[in-house]
Amino acid sequence: MPYRVQRPSEFRVGLGQDLHRLVTGRRFLLGGVEIPAEKGELAHSDGDVLCHAIADAILGAAGIGDIGELFPPSDPMFKDADSRVLLQTAYGEVKRAGWRLVNLDCVVICEKPKVLPYRERIRSSLAAILGIEPCSVMVKGKTSEGLGDIGQELAVEAVAVCLLESIRRMARNRRGGRK
Ligand code: MG
Repeated sequence: MPYRVQRPSEFRVGLGQDLHRLVTGRRFLLGGVEIPAEKGELAHSDGDVLCHAIADAILGAAGIGDIGELFPPSDPMFKDADSRVLLQTAYGEVKRAGWRLVNLDCVVICEKPKVLPYRERIRSSLAAILGIEPCSVMVKGKTSEGLGDIGQELAVEAVAVCLLESIRRMARNRRGGRK
C-alpha cells in the first residue's frame, strides 16, 4: 500500500552528531560553557562540539542543510568563530524557514572531564543562546568505557535530537483555533 501524505506535518525531528579531536592548548567548550580540562577541542572554529551537533539537528529538521554548508571550514571568516553565534545564526535560518524549537535532548561522550557537574550551566547557556526555557534542553554525559579514541581521551563526541513545531501551528493554537 503506497504511503500518501494527507498534509505536511507540523512537527519535525532532527538528528545531529559531531566529533572533535582533543589536544592540549585548546579550550574545552560545551554548549557555550568553558569547562576546566587538560585538553580542548581542535577545530577551525572554537570547537564547541555540542553547539555544532545541535546546529546540525535543527538545520536537518528544518530541511535546510548542515553546519558545514552554512559555515564552511575553508572560510577564514569562521576561524576561531564563537560557536554560540554560529548556533544562533543557524536557528535564525530555521525560524526564517517557519520553525520553532520545542525541545532538545543531547548526549556528550567523553572520558574526561565529567559533564554532570556542569550540566545545569550548559542547559542554561544553550537555553539563553536559543531563547528557550532550560527545561526544554537536556544534556547527558557518557563515557566510552575506555574504548576507542574517545576512551583514550583523544576525542569528544556530541549527539543531539530536536523537535521543531511549525510557527503556523503555534499561531493557530494561540488564537484557539483548530489543533
Ligand atoms: Mg564541529
